[in-house]
Amino acid sequence: MTMRKLFGCFAVSVLVSILSLNAGQGIRVFISVDMEGLAGVVAGDQVSAGGSDYGMARRWATEEANAAIQGALDAGATEIIVNDSHGSMRNILAHELNPAARLITGSPKPLSMMQGIDETFDAVIFIGYHARAGSFDGVLDHTYSGASVYSLTVNGREVGETELNAMIAGYFGVPVVMVAGDRTLSEQIRDMLGGEVVTSVVKESIGRTAANTLVPSEAQKLIRDNTRRGIEMRNQISPLRHNGPYRYEIEFLNSAQAENAELIPGVERSGPRSVEFIQQDFIESFRLFRAVLLVAR
Ligand SMILES: [Zn+2]
Repeated sequence: MTMRKLFGCFAVSVLVSILSLNAGQGIRVFISVDMEGLAGVVAGDQVSAGGSDYGMARRWATEEANAAIQGALDAGATEIIVNDSHGSMRNILAHELNPAARLITGSPKPLSMMQGIDETFDAVIFIGYHARAGSFDGVLDHTYSGASVYSLTVNGREVGETELNAMIAGYFGVPVVMVAGDRTLSEQIRDMLGGEVVTSVVKESIGRTAANTLVPSEAQKLIRDNTRRGIEMRNQISPLRHNGPYRYEIEFLNSAQAENAELIPGVERSGPRSVEFIQQDFIESFRLFRAVLLVAR
């Protein structure tokens, strides 16, 4: 080996060790952004493409995402992924997002609202999230599909998309450290994740389509500060891990939806409007849940 080649090998190995040192020290943050739980949002036309106030609400979604990104940077985040998680999943204004983050946009995505998460992340943030279907005073409460899901239980426990998405993060060993939405969501998620999770209550729900809300700029200050705090506390917050097998029971709005869902092998009818299934692996169970919703619709 010539001196030049030897030096080349040395330089490469130094570079590799610097990179792996950085990878070990970096803080990777995953941010999932829904819309029903944004400050100022109380009605369906604000969160439906084509609705008269949709353009304004998607700006608020982008600004709340930016507040979380800024909070993550304050906490020393070295890599930030934002996953657009509402409806068509093309709501966030890409050109207005803080360029410190990368954006996952569009649908469908295999992990849906959690697309992009894996075991290399250190913390998960939920922005604009909402209470599960059938909540008292939950602004625009629903579970994945307002048009079909009346209720969902996993291993006997009623869950909404916030809990289900927290379980996906937990599967990869990553804790959810900060959740922003209304008061009802905050209570539900504390009940499921424990008191350590930081919540940003951006509105007090008065009913399904009414709230006493912070104005967006105040909500964004709260989210920035709480995101930093949540990430700093990440080692005290446990990932939401559950052992399999996973038994899902889905009650639909009507019996035709259950009839469609039971066409899928492994999915059994458990009542006039409901089906159930069991899976050993959590990600497989989540994929089957999404397939059931698609078929039911
Ligand atoms: Zn949504």
